[in-house]
Amino acid sequence: MAQESLFMSRRTFEEGETIFEKGDSRDYAYIIESGIVKMTGVSEEDGSKTSVYVSNGEIFGESALLDGGYRDATAKAVEPTAAFCISPDILKQRMENLDPMVKLLVSMLVEKYRYNRLSHIDGLAKSPSLSAKRTQELLVESYEKQRRIVLDELRMEQELRRALEKNEFKPYLQPITEFENGSIIGYETLVRWHHPHRGIVFPNDFIPIAERTNVVGAIDQCMLEAACNLIPQLHDIAGEYGKKMFISVNLSGANFDDQAIVDRVKSTLKGTKFDPSQIKLEITESALVSDAEQAAFILEQLKATGVTLALDDFGTGYSSLGYLHRFTIDSLKIDRSFVQQLQVSRKSLNIVKAVVDLAHTFDLNLIAEGIEEEKEVEILKGLGCKYGQGFYFGRPVEAQETLRQFSEDISAKQSTGLVSAE
Ligand code: C2E
Ligand code: CA
Ligand code: CA
Repeated sequence: MAQESLFMSRRTFEEGETIFEKGDSRDYAYIIESGIVKMTGVSEEDGSKTSVYVSNGEIFGESALLDGGYRDATAKAVEPTAAFCISPDILKQRMENLDPMVKLLVSMLVEKYRYNRLSHIDGLAKSPSLSAKRTQELLVESYEKQRRIVLDELRMEQELRRALEKNEFKPYLQPITEFENGSIIGYETLVRWHHPHRGIVFPNDFIPIAERTNVVGAIDQCMLEAACNLIPQLHDIAGEYGKKMFISVNLSGANFDDQAIVDRVKSTLKGTKFDPSQIKLEITESALVSDAEQAAFILEQLKATGVTLALDDFGTGYSSLGYLHRFTIDSLKIDRSFVQQLQVSRKSLNIVKAVVDLAHTFDLNLIAEGIEEEKEVEILKGLGCKYGQGFYFGRPVEAQETLRQFSEDISAKQSTGLVSAE
């Protein structure tokens, strides 16, 4: 029942049909899809009847969303009418997904509206009902909670900007490995915030806020600059072998349709002396969904700078496969949720199989993410996937430490003749 109420239902009413009557208990609010509804109530001033007509796209019975009292007006369809029914649960669920500031604004307006109504009812009854008082208390509580969230987020935005100035965002590198010979073909840059009091903060705890507050572009830029500084160091350590490696950088999907992304990449690459294809930009599949045309245009311009492009978290973003050939991408990174289900879910296995075929068809490299066990490597190899990344091969480690380890590995291989010094 509770589950059912989270789905928006639709009802139709015949001409003249009563939708609800004054005194009925409040269940839904309605948004009119087509038709006209007449609302009849009693004037608070002189007790006379008042009517109002509502039609397409308008909402009526909305007090049901505020509290479960009784209807104070009667609603009748004036002509055949269709309307969507919104329950308080639906509103609550939709509110969860709102930007916190919009949520605060909505909560505040709802609270004001309800406060006015309740104080009016209280005034009439002279002794406010307990349930009315409790509802009001609950609302003020949720409003205060909302206010705290928004304030926290505003403070966090200030913190993020301060952290940028203080250079607190540090690149960590995770190896990407070729299954066949175990050699590292590149690294993914993953940002960590070295916070002066909180210690190391992981991206999931600040990237979403950085995205909402438009700070993410600067963080991504910072990581791109770091990658551009690291590539010459790979050359120094591993010579020709180092020149074939790449470092990938994540680009946020927020505002991916913004031309500024292309300008930032261009200006960062300017003056670098390495082959720009050694930089791989990872863009999540979901970034390309909202405006695929514009995304394809941005990707083309990024590609024209000489970098390589990877579609990240592939399989989770519902992008239209029809568009895949239009995106100038070089690699697909299959999301770790599929890799981690490989051994238990036939569906995941089939999805990985299909993505391997897709990668072949479009001539794309395929990198499997989130590999934690040898068995997963075996299955992936069996399916025709050649490259992967995950804790099994190595966790993300601070960049200079990664290079130090890489240098040691290379020296060991050079001494056994596995890699030439040039
Ligand atoms: P992502 O791009 O999909 O990065 C892979 C994430 O999976 C990383 O989490 C990595 O530490 C984790 N991971 C790697 N191997 C394994 C494994 O075997 N098992 C498990 N359970 N996890 C594994 P991390 O570093 O916490 O980053 C989370 C997400 O934050 C990234 O997902 C990416 O979307 C975002 N992110 C990280 N750095 C940046 C950045 O510089 N810019 C932007 N815009 N987003 C970033
Ligand atoms: Ca990534
Ligand atoms: Ca990923």
